[in-house]
Amino acid sequence: MANWKMNGDRSFWYNLAEQTALQAKEFKDCKFVMFPPFVALADVENALFEAEKNVELGAQDVSNYEHGAFTSQVSAEMLTGLGCSYVLVGHSECREYLGQPDELLAEKIEVAQAKGLKTVLCIGETLEEYEAGQSVQIVVEQLEKCLANCENSDLLAVAYEPVWAIGTGKVATIDDIKPIFAEIKQSLLDKFGSKGDNVALLYGGSVKADNANEIFSVDEINGVLVGGASLDATSFVDIARNA
Ligand code: PEP
Repeated sequence: MANWKMNGDRSFWYNLAEQTALQAKEFKDCKFVMFPPFVALADVENALFEAEKNVELGAQDVSNYEHGAFTSQVSAEMLTGLGCSYVLVGHSECREYLGQPDELLAEKIEVAQAKGLKTVLCIGETLEEYEAGQSVQIVVEQLEKCLANCENSDLLAVAYEPVWAIGTGKVATIDDIKPIFAEIKQSLLDKFGSKGDNVALLYGGSVKADNANEIFSVDEINGVLVGGASLDATSFVDIARNA
């Protein structure tokens, strides 16, 4: 999954989408999702018009309201109308810079899923919490609170992204990651029963082609959420190639 964040301009988005889709063709058993800025969605949808079915479109955020007087917000229905099938919820940058708490994220998931969007819930601890040995506790707590209203595990994916590994070049070690994914899996099984096993689990945080292989060696990991390396089609698709 490619999180383009607030990067690029109109010609950049179109080219990146086209190039990524072209290179992704080779990997038919792998799903690629692009999350461009809101204002790029229409152009990217056009660029993906002839893409294979393994390339899908998503948005970086969604309103917790359905419609109405909520200046600046973007509804789930607007996103599906622009061809989105996915949405990120609770990216650490939205939590930190837009002040989005878990309770609000729970509402976003509920509203987005009601419109059929697949929600990718992002969770992860800060450096301070990591150093205090609180990673598992924080992640499980975020998961429980954000999924308080969620009953549809078919429309859910979870991305574990240690905040201290996002955009920093630091990748969590396999020893850091393994126990956390085991806990996430167990929490999902506790909540959804055996269906919890089908929720896709992703790792995010400075993923690149040269560390992808190791990350995918963790049994529970089904995919990766990529920021920086997704801004170049070859670097992004090389992650799939190396994995
Ligand atoms: C992200 O934005 O979700 C992310 C993981 O970014 P980066 O790959 O740049 O660390």
